Amino acid sequence: MNADERRNLETEVMKAGLAGLAELPGGVSDFVQVIAKIVNNWEPSPNRQGEWIDQHKFLRDLFAECDSADRGAMYSAIVPHLTFKPLPLASYESMMTERMNRLIAKGAAKAEGQAPQPVEVGGKKYIEASAAQATHAIAKVRCSCGKKKVFLAGTPVGAMIAARQAGWKRIADRETCPHCVKKLTTAIDKRRVA
Ligand SMILES: [Zn+2]
Repeated sequence: MNADERRNLETEVMKAGLAGLAELPGGVSDFVQVIAKIVNNWEPSPNRQGEWIDQHKFLRDLFAECDSADRGAMYSAIVPHLTFKPLPLASYESMMTERMNRLIAKGAAKAEGQAPQPVEVGGKKYIEASAAQATHAIAKVRCSCGKKKVFLAGTPVGAMIAARQAGWKRIADRETCPHCVKKLTTAIDKRRVA
């Protein structure tokens, strides 16, 4: 297994674990120790977007997978197992916002050169605007099964949170619709039993 494959495997284990927290035999504490071990031994490497992921970025992405209500609990649970000094939770949360804004800016940059296509959400039309002029933010998610959905909120992060609340999850670096999340969870459970 090369470094790339190992990294992908660890990401999938992490995401699968987060998706099925409640179903783990040892409960949350076993899971937290497994994750702490992965992050303690983490060797910095770039992710698929070419962003350099060090131990802090790893924690950022871990906390991003938690519902905001559970984030504090996850932070307090994992900190005692870390062999390096973590940043305050608020720092990871601002790193999440930065990352989301950067991804959204990148998506907007791709559309440059074309006339802005209005997007219709809930019967109202929205066009692209600069961050300074924007009144709303939209998150477009697309699952590998072809399902697409658009979420709307006051901020980019709010739009992504709306997608999460609707059951969309990020699994192995891909947006996954609620239906496929269910299928994937079942597939993972089957592998564990075998
Ligand atoms: Zn799907």
